[in-house]
Amino acid sequence: VTGRIRRAEIIAAGSELLTPHRIDTNSLYLTGQLNELGVVVRLKSVVGDDRDDLAEVVRQALARADLVITTGGLGPTADDLTREVVADVLGLSLELDEGIFASIRARFDRRGVKMPEINRRQALVPRGAEALPNAFGTAPGLWLEVAGRMVALLPGPPRELRPMFETYVAPRIAQASGGFRLRRRIIKITGRSESQVEELAFPIYSQFATATPAIETTILAWPGQIELHLATSGTDVAALEEVLEGAVVRLAAAVGPAVFSVDGSSLEAVVGRILEERGWFVAVAESCTGGTLLGRLTDVPGSSAWVLGGVVAYADEVKVRELDVPADLIAAHGAVSEPVAQAMAAGVCRRFAADVGVAITGIAGPGGGSVEKPVGTVAIAIAGPGAAVRTFTFPGDREAIRRHATSAALDMVRSALSPKP
Ligand code: ATP
Ligand code: MG
Repeated sequence: VTGRIRRAEIIAAGSELLTPHRIDTNSLYLTGQLNELGVVVRLKSVVGDDRDDLAEVVRQALARADLVITTGGLGPTADDLTREVVADVLGLSLELDEGIFASIRARFDRRGVKMPEINRRQALVPRGAEALPNAFGTAPGLWLEVAGRMVALLPGPPRELRPMFETYVAPRIAQASGGFRLRRRIIKITGRSESQVEELAFPIYSQFATATPAIETTILAWPGQIELHLATSGTDVAALEEVLEGAVVRLAAAVGPAVFSVDGSSLEAVVGRILEERGWFVAVAESCTGGTLLGRLTDVPGSSAWVLGGVVAYADEVKVRELDVPADLIAAHGAVSEPVAQAMAAGVCRRFAADVGVAITGIAGPGGGSVEKPVGTVAIAIAGPGAAVRTFTFPGDREAIRRHATSAALDMVRSALSPKP
């Protein structure tokens, strides 16, 4: 099989994936890997360990797609049906592969355990299929090329599936698709709404769709962050990257300083880089975000080079005792107010001997709102160089408001420390 793979489908087999307790993460991994190879996933199915259901899903996928990847159901137990069902649907007989049989037996011998008879099933190979060695488990994968279609059967456990895909499946797909590749870039934006970004970006990216090579642009929105995803495909990777770079530069210029990264970096990593460049340390005082700002900062590897620590000052008395916020300031303005945010930022900055102090105080809801200060009201202050204070009214539920607040705080640090134009 050669030429571009037009349609790939993924089938995740396993009844546990149809419960609320386990999610099919293998298909997310596989989709990412396939996209890298220039292959678009057109359909994913999740199916329980039922012979008829699995056969139906496999039959349909094989009728539509030129690449079908299954995950799970290659184990030795009675509910592991993938190997048999796929052989059955394709009308291929299963034959015992002596080499695989010997290696499965050797795996058990090494552990000093007698191989259970049921593990013999894992050495059955549909006629014409290639077995893919499993370095991290007993079940080998299988690779089949039949009637112009490619089929890969991979084990369910991610730590077995991933190395098997990378070692044996990816090179086969790359070869079959004639070096076709997909390249992506992500522009990350904060402090703007999805529609504001769309308004600025659409006139530009709409031209990319019809250019050669065409660039596909998608907008993704999260609380506190908007992303523009650009993707293009072809065989000349250097040319693809150049085209994407040009597109990124034009879009970033149109959206302006709200763009905080074009290389995949998170907002917290960007802030960390700015602090580290100056040799500065940050300390944070958080009320409604409960430590999640410090969590985001310390998620960045190497953050000890620019993070000192923080105080979660949820109760007013803690704001007073740990951050030296005057009690009468809270009485006069309320805990969610700009003067209190400023006092918290100044207090944490002084107590920790930090270069930059950041404070967040707000109402994450669902209760606690009032007419003057509705749920979503958050005051954020920066102490130190570029000192600033702002009050926001963030939309969404408690989780969204908290996320918005930490992103806005990070962005305020970013702009406080960025050279002004
Ligand atoms: P085994 O030999 O371990 O039985 P298998 O190929 O039969 O391998 P399954 O029995 O279907 O695989 O799944 C084994 C485990 O792998 C599951 O309990 C689950 O934890 C994980 N797993 C299976 N499918 C997926 C999936 N699609 N995404 C993430 N994890 C999965
Ligand atoms: Mg199993």
